[in-house]
Amino acid sequence: MSQTHVLHRSLRQTPPVAVRGQGVWIHDSAGRAYLDGSGGAAVSCLGHNHPDIQAAMHAQIDALAYAHTSFFTTEVAEQLADRLVADAPEGISHAYFVSGGSEAVEAALKMARQYFVEIGQPERRHIVARRQSYHGNTLGALAVGGNAWRRAQFAPLLIEVEHVSPCYAYRDQRDGESPEQYGERLAQELDQTFEKLGSGTVMAFVAEPVVGATSGAVTAVPGYFRRIREVCDRHGVLLIADEVMCGMGRTGTLYAVEQEGIVPDLITIAKGLGGGYQPIGAVMAQQRIVDAMQQGSGFFQHGHTYLGHAIACAASLAVQDVIRRDNLLARVREQGAGLRQRLEHALGAHPHVGDIRGRGLFMGIELVQDRATKATFDPALTLHARIKREAMARGLMVYPMGGTIDGRHGDHVLLAPPFIISDDELDQLTERLAGAIDAAITQTRA
Ligand code: PLP
Repeated sequence: MSQTHVLHRSLRQTPPVAVRGQGVWIHDSAGRAYLDGSGGAAVSCLGHNHPDIQAAMHAQIDALAYAHTSFFTTEVAEQLADRLVADAPEGISHAYFVSGGSEAVEAALKMARQYFVEIGQPERRHIVARRQSYHGNTLGALAVGGNAWRRAQFAPLLIEVEHVSPCYAYRDQRDGESPEQYGERLAQELDQTFEKLGSGTVMAFVAEPVVGATSGAVTAVPGYFRRIREVCDRHGVLLIADEVMCGMGRTGTLYAVEQEGIVPDLITIAKGLGGGYQPIGAVMAQQRIVDAMQQGSGFFQHGHTYLGHAIACAASLAVQDVIRRDNLLARVREQGAGLRQRLEHALGAHPHVGDIRGRGLFMGIELVQDRATKATFDPALTLHARIKREAMARGLMVYPMGGTIDGRHGDHVLLAPPFIISDDELDQLTERLAGAIDAAITQTRA
């Protein structure tokens, strides 16, 4: 294409034209095939062109594409909510459907605020989140995200949010400190932050159970989230788990928090919820929050035109059906273990691979100049971008992230392949990725 009228993300380069998908593969107009090692951005959990999802969408299009939610509900929205609640941690009772992850985060923040207004605590307005997190790109979600660089030019437009330390053991757990002590230190920091802001003035703490887009599948140390839950409870603060990236089976359980043994007050989900077949997200809410709004003003004062879109709900319901029918959560755990093993075998001793981490089919690799000191590559080398280019040249999609976030530089690769990936495709993913990493590092020495 010599000219484009699409305003692409990169204004310097037009990407290849995707024309067809099948399983874990996307094909472009030049006839090249790409192994989708990242599910786009942890979206395509069932791969591409799944016949059961297509059939469910066709059936819904034949019946009814759209009915505005101020007039109607639909069977597919009701069934999807039933399913998501049935499989959610105990206490979660309702789903509020939106069109994506940022919308879900916005809705969760407003639901938290409305809850406190309804129960007569309007002084609760502060939000606390973590540095090196990503919660979306709309103004509210951007303000919550812990990425000073992303926020910088929009700062005058953003609400004030207090940011605390992430749980990032590879970099921040001190020598001689146990995982328990590290988790306790972070819980104390949160406690002190609530105190500093004025305990009765904080409404919500927002965190990703497994951090995705900023630092590559960073899991919390054992017990961290239980301690965080306790601190929130002590201060009457709502805990919002942002599972937009790590939820919906990606880590081997439908909700990532199941593995932390806690129940958040609100959970945001998107991406894998629709598997990329339709844009859809949701806020999963606890009964007491819904009760407060019901007994108070009687409605949630928030809405978008495409809430609970019928085709999106039909696609998402079909995704949930396939995950259950084909026992895909067990498959995520199994293929995730296989992926980890392959990565460790191919890259575990690599002089520039500092950490291989993650859970299920949500894995991250952190690249370092020096394994012993954990020194990062010079940011000017843009290693992560080079890896992405080299991977694409080898017919592989991965989600490399890098740059300086909150004063800390890092080059990471995030992997989130479809749950249906085969052993042979895992071999290809690993081999192509190892080649891309080596080629990118070689370039930096030129
Ligand atoms: N929250 C998290 C944890 C995310 O990873 C993302 C997107 O990557 C979002 C929110 C925003 O979702 P969306 O891009 O669908 O608006």
